[in-house]
Amino acid sequence: MSTPIPAELLSVGTELLRGEIVDTNAGYIAAQLPLLGIELQRMSTCGDNLDYLRDVLQQALGRATVVITSGGLGPTEDDLTREAIAATLGETLTIDPELEKNLRMMFSRSGREMPPHNIKQAMVIPSAKALPNPRGTAPGWWVEKNGKVIVTLPGPPREMTTMWQNEVIPRLKARFPMKPILARTVKTFFVAEATVAQLMEPFFSIDNPTLGIYAKPDGIQVRLIAHGDNAKELLDESEQKIRNLLSAYVWGKDDDTLAGLVGKWLINKNLTLATIEDMTGGLLADAITSTAESRNYYHGGLIATNDHAKISGGVPVEIIGKHGAVSAEVAEAMAVTVRTSLATDIGVSVTGITGAESKQPGLVFIGIADSHGSKTWQQQYQVGRADTRERVAIAALFRLRERLIELKLDV
Ligand code: AMP
Ligand code: MG
Repeated sequence: MSTPIPAELLSVGTELLRGEIVDTNAGYIAAQLPLLGIELQRMSTCGDNLDYLRDVLQQALGRATVVITSGGLGPTEDDLTREAIAATLGETLTIDPELEKNLRMMFSRSGREMPPHNIKQAMVIPSAKALPNPRGTAPGWWVEKNGKVIVTLPGPPREMTTMWQNEVIPRLKARFPMKPILARTVKTFFVAEATVAQLMEPFFSIDNPTLGIYAKPDGIQVRLIAHGDNAKELLDESEQKIRNLLSAYVWGKDDDTLAGLVGKWLINKNLTLATIEDMTGGLLADAITSTAESRNYYHGGLIATNDHAKISGGVPVEIIGKHGAVSAEVAEAMAVTVRTSLATDIGVSVTGITGAESKQPGLVFIGIADSHGSKTWQQQYQVGRADTRERVAIAALFRLRERLIELKLDV
């Protein structure tokens, strides 16, 4: 394999240093680079300060072949990425008439006069080519000088990712041609990260494909990256080995989502679904409706935060009185009643307690009712984790998946 191209990433913005926004751009770009054969060696964050920016850029260009920046392309005075690059390369910023025309057109199309300071966004240096930004006013830059490449991207994530996909990837591929590099992700659930790491031990000494293990809300993921002409075969082979080792824990791969997978099975079997949730506040419904196909099987759901809502939804008041709202009996009754009231084949319920002050914090029951009867699961979660509710909603989908497999409806 040819040696990976060394790169550095610079996130620009004082708001990042103050913790006012989280640097999601860096994570996105970092995950994209290995697939291009580019090795990110350093990430830095710099405030909106010309001297600091110039310093960091100078150092980055001394070490790396590719330097990628995000942010600092806005129209205001504190957006200084262009100025910093111009100063670092010793070049002068001038207005590009074509860019100015586009910018003015963009404003007039939305019925506004272009504010005078936006003209900054039409500026380039001689070594820079502007990268179009269909989602915003700030063009990016592709700069080539002395064998180095600087890629300059806007800060807003949707502008950045669009420009990255449409403009940057093709240019990086053309400038640094590589043998094919492919990635594959195997997704697991109900297994601890340490267990996965232990089972994956034999892979750690292999350098093609390389293997990484990541904990996500929907389980532990194993990511493989392979290079070379036989990259696909290497991935297929390794995926099979991983599936054999992790067998029952594997639920999907690559872009699979749990809701998408379960939805596909329901559609294939012509089954409909309804939900009722306490604790998750609609996150289960949100996960299900995140795919457009959900209309075909999901009738809807109820967010039943307190007893009133559960009782109005049809849960018998005596069951709540006798067992308490967070109990297997209530979870079962919730699933049964929502299935009846929304006239679906399957009802899924969640009831649980997050508050640390409650008797058994983190206790959750999931219920499923279908034409074969009903089933409940008791689960215990750590209290105080920011993502507990999301994990509970995902767990409910996993139980649904489990039930569909049990009923042989998983095709
Ligand atoms: P800027 O290009 O610096 O004017 O950034 C405009 C907006 O983009 C900021 O106010 C943020 O909302 C967003 N943004 C900038 N940098 C990042 C980043 N690294 N990650 C996520 N969002 C960002
Ligand atoms: Mg800024």
